[in-house]
Amino acid sequence: MSSLDQDQRLHPSCRNQTTVSSDLSDTPEVAKLPLQGLKLASHAVLEKAQVRGRLKCSKCGGSRMFFCYTCCSLLGVNLQEIPVIKLPVKIDIIKHPNETDGKSTAVHAKILAPSDVTIYTYPCIPEYKKGKVVLVFPGPDAVSVQDMMQCLKDLTDSRSHGASYEPRIKRLKTEEVQGPTHTAEKPQSSPDEAKSLESRMYPLQRVVFIDSTWNQTNKISTDERLQDLLRVELKTRKTCFWRSQKGKPDTYLATIEAIYYFLMDFSEHCLAQEYNGEYDNLLFFYSFLHSVVNKAKTSAGKC
Ligand SMILES: [Zn+2]
Repeated sequence: MSSLDQDQRLHPSCRNQTTVSSDLSDTPEVAKLPLQGLKLASHAVLEKAQVRGRLKCSKCGGSRMFFCYTCCSLLGVNLQEIPVIKLPVKIDIIKHPNETDGKSTAVHAKILAPSDVTIYTYPCIPEYKKGKVVLVFPGPDAVSVQDMMQCLKDLTDSRSHGASYEPRIKRLKTEEVQGPTHTAEKPQSSPDEAKSLESRMYPLQRVVFIDSTWNQTNKISTDERLQDLLRVELKTRKTCFWRSQKGKPDTYLATIEAIYYFLMDFSEHCLAQEYNGEYDNLLFFYSFLHSVVNKAKTSAGKC
């Protein structure tokens, strides 16, 4: 399935809409049906929890439904009842301290992919290694996901002067040349395939996302610790987020949407694997909440 088909499948109405990120009640009826056709785990557990209502978080005392966004733990829902996703690459999310936790979708990623996602609160962020880490953030210097791996390899090439990196790079280049015919004959899970996957990932170690409102995001992205990182832009996606932010373009995605679309592109363009819904469950909470908001708006409109 091409990314275009995928996009259409997900957002049958969003692709040609320029108003999808604004209040959904302003959009045509057809735009109220985004996020269709995802391969999702059953929402029955969330429907049950919703009927039960909000619970008090035992750690912070906050009144929450499904999960506590402050403590990043489930509430009234068991871990066994929700999908857990293994991601192909480690993801860091940098949160602005003033960001209202309840509005953030970053916690969805942490709960659904706990072993691969780390959330940091700005300004407490790690020292990232240039050439091994990318920042998903738009800008004049940003490259597409498709071009990202080559740019990283070029960076590594130009930075290493025949020292420890060189044999590794030479080996990778050989594999790249042989790639298509070599891997086509192998079963997916063979050691060669795993090695090939590893080489396709190299030198990428981590992908960083910023979770914050528009203005605060700019402040974080100009932090000198993030300045040297290769920037990657998700160019063609439009948000279906139900909370509009004034002055934002509709390509400004909710954090969980950005992670999801990045992984789809990454899978297809960088790992050369056809996307078959492997990461759809990242939208497990998002799509449910989206439908709840839409139902509420529909019934409010009828009154
Ligand atoms: Zn809590």
